[in-house]
Amino acid sequence: MSIIVFVETDNGTVKKSSQEAVFYASELAKKQNTTAVAVALGTANEASLSALGNFGVSKVIQVTNDKLNTPSLMAYASAIASVAKSTGADTVILAKSSLVDGVASRIAIKLSAAVVTNVVELPNLSNGFSVKRAIYTGKAFANVSINANNKVLVIKKNAVTVVESATSAAIEKMEIALDEKDFSVVQKEVQKASGEVLLPEAEIVVSGGRGLKGPENWGIINDLAKVLGAATGCSKPVSDMDWRPHHEHVGQTGVKVSPNLYIAVGISGAIQHLAGVNSSKVIVVINKDPEAPFFKAADYGIVGDAFDVLPKLTAAFAKVLNN
Ligand SMILES: Cc1cc2nc3c(=O)[nH]c(=O)nc-3n(C[C@H](O)[C@H](O)[C@H](O)COP(=O)(O)OP(=O)(O)OC[C@H]3O[C@@H](n4cnc5c(N)ncnc54)[C@H](O)[C@@H]3O)c2cc1C
Repeated sequence: MSIIVFVETDNGTVKKSSQEAVFYASELAKKQNTTAVAVALGTANEASLSALGNFGVSKVIQVTNDKLNTPSLMAYASAIASVAKSTGADTVILAKSSLVDGVASRIAIKLSAAVVTNVVELPNLSNGFSVKRAIYTGKAFANVSINANNKVLVIKKNAVTVVESATSAAIEKMEIALDEKDFSVVQKEVQKASGEVLLPEAEIVVSGGRGLKGPENWGIINDLAKVLGAATGCSKPVSDMDWRPHHEHVGQTGVKVSPNLYIAVGISGAIQHLAGVNSSKVIVVINKDPEAPFFKAADYGIVGDAFDVLPKLTAAFAKVLNN
């Protein structure tokens, strides 16, 4: 019995959500008195891989086949399943992402494993293997019991509170045989929708709603986002009215975000909007109506006019962050 944890990289650097998954895997390994090994595919920054020791693993297997430098659902699933088989791992842990959404179930098929997504806590092992998962866009939780030997667990972003230690992991390079059939669909190029920071991956999001009155006023949102290195988002009516592009629409019918900080400006906080943001670690709401429903979901709130508050907030952040 052992555990492998897939680490996803962005420009060669391990993503924060994967660091969380590594910590989760190493804590699970402690509970099961076994070991957890991280698995990276393709080229990656060696310092970033060895820093995974800080999150609890002592070894990283880096599968170095060049063809894995470009993400491919089939090839990634085959490579991870292959590492699981060769290391005798019965549990595969992954951090939720758009890539992992397509890879996890394919791994489960290859390993005849049970797959559970949206996992938010370490399993309860007192009577079998039971995990808590978020359902109904994070509004409720379900405890599910896994009765299969092999398991694939997809961990929800921001669900794990990581405790780091100063240790480095050894990197073991591995080449594995890949089937040509796994490359029947190949990603040729990526065109980013806009801006420097992608909304689904952003650590900070500044989002505007109908309270901004019109597209000509988005400068105050962009200025704050620029100072914070944040992505910009918006409510559905804003994108429906073409004030902002549709890929910025956050919510039940739009992008679901899980940043460390979500700043909502002039957004009322309708349940359909909250469904896309309630995995955020800290929510700040700026609204001139003290009765706006969003304040109930907020960690911090500013009752005030966005046109007054935002420039002051941006200037204050600029002062602190530039020092
Ligand atoms: C099936 C369905 C799916 C939906 N999916 C989504 C979704 O995915 N995402 C989504 O966002 N919505 C969705 N909606 C729409 C949702 O119900 C709300 O209508 C929408 O979120 C409201 O957008 P808003 O908060 O920008 O606008 P409003 O409800 O008009 O709120 C504007 C807010 O701005 C505040 N305000 C006004 N002026 C200022 C100012 N100067 N300074 C500060 N605050 C100010 C007001 O007090 C108010 O709270 C969906 C609806 C349905 C029926």
